[in-house]
Amino acid sequence: MAFEAHQEKLNFQAEVKQLLHIVVNSLYSNKEIFLRELISNASDAIDKIKFEAISDPALYESDHEVKIRVNYDKAARTLTISDNGIGMSRDEVVANLGTIAKSGTREFLSQLSGDQKKDAHLIGQFGVGFYSAFIVADKVTVVTRRAGLGSEHGVSWESSGDGEYTIANVEKPTRGTDVILHLKENEDEFLENWRLRSIITKYSDHLPISIFMPKYTEDEKPTDEWEAVNRATALWTLPKNAITEEQYKEFYKHVGHDMDDPLAWTHHRIEGSNLDYNCLIYLPARAPFDLWQRDTHHGLKLYVQRVFIMDQVEQFVPHYLRFIRGVLDTTSLPLNISREILQEHHVIPKLRSALVRHVLDLLERIAKDDPEKYATFWKEFGNVLKEGPAEDFSNRDRIAKLLRFTSTYQDHGQHVSLSDYVSRMKAKQSKIYYMTAENVNAAKSSPHLEVFNKNNIEVLLLTDKIDEWVVAHLSEFEGKTLQSVAKGDLSLDEVVEEDTATKEAEEKKDKIQQETFENLLKEIKTILGNQIKEVRLSHRLTASPACLVRDQDALGPQMERLLKAAGQTVTEAKAILELNPEHAIILKMQQLNQEELNEWTQIIYEQALLAEGSVLPEPAAFVQRMNKVWMKTF
Ligand code: ADP
Ligand code: MG
Repeated sequence: MAFEAHQEKLNFQAEVKQLLHIVVNSLYSNKEIFLRELISNASDAIDKIKFEAISDPALYESDHEVKIRVNYDKAARTLTISDNGIGMSRDEVVANLGTIAKSGTREFLSQLSGDQKKDAHLIGQFGVGFYSAFIVADKVTVVTRRAGLGSEHGVSWESSGDGEYTIANVEKPTRGTDVILHLKENEDEFLENWRLRSIITKYSDHLPISIFMPKYTEDEKPTDEWEAVNRATALWTLPKNAITEEQYKEFYKHVGHDMDDPLAWTHHRIEGSNLDYNCLIYLPARAPFDLWQRDTHHGLKLYVQRVFIMDQVEQFVPHYLRFIRGVLDTTSLPLNISREILQEHHVIPKLRSALVRHVLDLLERIAKDDPEKYATFWKEFGNVLKEGPAEDFSNRDRIAKLLRFTSTYQDHGQHVSLSDYVSRMKAKQSKIYYMTAENVNAAKSSPHLEVFNKNNIEVLLLTDKIDEWVVAHLSEFEGKTLQSVAKGDLSLDEVVEEDTATKEAEEKKDKIQQETFENLLKEIKTILGNQIKEVRLSHRLTASPACLVRDQDALGPQMERLLKAAGQTVTEAKAILELNPEHAIILKMQQLNQEELNEWTQIIYEQALLAEGSVLPEPAAFVQRMNKVWMKTF
């Protein structure tokens, strides 16, 4: 069969065009990162062949020494990054260099503003990768061949980064990939030997793979000899005291696929007969754009005896810690492990709980030593960590200590911990009170808080969607029950210290009020029928006429809405309507005729619904009723 070039001109996917434009325009001030990205890809490609070759050694063809080469040609103004890694087939080239497969890409790109500074910051969450080549090049040629395919299966890809690319079949005797950058006019610095070497050592000194450049004579003439530029010792294998902050940070950019510095890291080497591993775990400073995408992968890079096995190995990292990045290198697993075996191997649970321990240790340390840094972490990943109490029962107490909530506690800034709360509890207080609401303002003005404010009792304000889920799985903390202020038959008697005389007086007052309102309560229940479960007098209210409360074990209104939105059938727990026997409106209700009482009752009920953030079934009818009553006062 004759060799066919089979050349095609193809368009980039719309998202690629957009990304290219942003990368080129917003990252210009830090353009040298393109080399880090291309070397990082070459290194990934070499990791992949090492892994595939474990089960198929023939992939190495006759070339066992994996390496990356960087070379330049001043006359042609080209810079070439070559690797003898796994390479790509024609289909892989089209998929990897012409499209972005990550879900959520379109939404992410639509957030970008066109403001270069802001976008440069955001794009770090996304990772620019291969396309960063176009920051310095006006044309990029990729020549590649998948390891194991014949030399006639080489593929050449070329683009000027302006919307389309050409692809053709070519002969390529050696496996792997050459990325050839045709540098833009003012980018001569990337044709300088010393400049390239210094970028390589800055970013890639401790990638576990050698990067070679040609050896030069004294008078800057290239020779045929190649020499390694970086040290190529895997960073995580070095003793901690031999690693600088800078080196830790640079390595993170490779494993984290991130452009920003990490927030923190923790590095451990554990040598034991039943568990032997080395791990370097990073906390990113910012949430990646796809943190909440269901199908995104997370996890660590797994090495077994220094050999790369897999990326994004999720088995070691529970879902609620899915934000961590890093490397796990172990001798406790066999080299020939596959994803399937990995699911079942008996050391996995041990490694997993060891890693979880390291991460929780790290978080505890930051929370204690550097609250400001912890606040940054919490802002980015707090809502992920909140999945912890439900997911990881064995670490529930440790995770609970790491949670932060908004609170009514005045002198404090934004967030408090449960331990803070407990330390401020009233002498006889046995419960941790919380209120769930759509947002902090709604919570603060809720009728349910009135009695707590009056008595100066702190209440946690839970305003994230996941919070009700958290408290459902965290029924207590250090022996103190978590109690919703909107549930059950609230009594603060034990908390509020009163002398016996006051207590007796109150009890007497209660009794009289019960008798006074008995009939009204009955009538209101008749009017509202089965819209509510029950009507009773309240101990929660000081300023509002009424509020809705739920039974102790019922779903809260937020949770109810959440489950409904998720398409679940929810048996709605009927609310209890509580009335404030000291409120002028409620007192006045005793004197109304039947028609007025019907109207007022419905309004009181609907106001209580509004106050808890629920949606009225018939908002317009509510407005009409309100106005009718209002106009009577003219
Ligand atoms: P990322 O590295 O985060 O996946 P990139 O934009 O850097 O994103 O690269 C896109 C994809 O192109 C890679 O995932 C890989 O499949 C492919 N690729 C890029 N460079 C190479 C290379 N040198 N060898 C093999 N595949 C490569
Ligand atoms: Mg990459």
